[in-house]
Amino acid sequence: MNRVPVMDDGREFRVWCAACETDEHITIESAHRHRRDGVMIWDVDYSCTNCGRPYGHEIRAATLTSPLASVIIELAHHTNLAGPGTAA
Ligand SMILES: [Zn+2]
Repeated sequence: MNRVPVMDDGREFRVWCAACETDEHITIESAHRHRRDGVMIWDVDYSCTNCGRPYGHEIRAATLTSPLASVIIELAHHTNLAGPGTAA
């Protein structure tokens, strides 16, 4: 019964309002894509319009739900980020 707390089960890395316990009111403000060890990472800033809380953290692309991923990708295109490492 020696349980190790699991931190990296994906929940810590998704777009989510911990206060409202929903992602219903989330507005993505900015998104930056980069790679780390071959893993696609999104550095996302967002806020919850319901409670006004700002959030900002990294999310592995694999943990994004597809509607959210398309929002983020579209936003990244709009902010016109010609970041390095687009194609290796
Ligand atoms: Zn909220």
